[in-house]
Amino acid sequence: MAETHEKDKPAKDVFVCENCNFSVSFDYFGRKPPFARSYVLMEEAYVMKDPFSEERGFITLGSSCNICRAKVCLSQNCSLFYTKRFCLRCVKKNLKEFPAEIKEEMTKKSTKSD
Ligand SMILES: [Zn+2]
Ligand SMILES: [Zn+2]
Repeated sequence: MAETHEKDKPAKDVFVCENCNFSVSFDYFGRKPPFARSYVLMEEAYVMKDPFSEERGFITLGSSCNICRAKVCLSQNCSLFYTKRFCLRCVKKNLKEFPAEIKEEMTKKSTKSD
């Protein structure tokens, strides 16, 4: 629609979760956010600066599924971290590759949502 062109603000890349459509602009993708110098993430992730903290604060938004490369947010309904990030679709599809605790969790989840 009538979008205003904010010239003084550089266009930011937007992270969109492919599962829940949660979308937000992110500042960095990778494991070492430059604005959080001493911090190394466990996975490559989409990160935004925390607007409420002056220094080194950041919020991890999401990451890419290691199987299908879909961008997914960190919500429990969208992805799961087990040594790597996986979207729940791939977890369900490859459930036998995951340990019992993950299987259990997924069964719990599916019974809850039904
Ligand atoms: Zn999501
Ligand atoms: Zn996936």
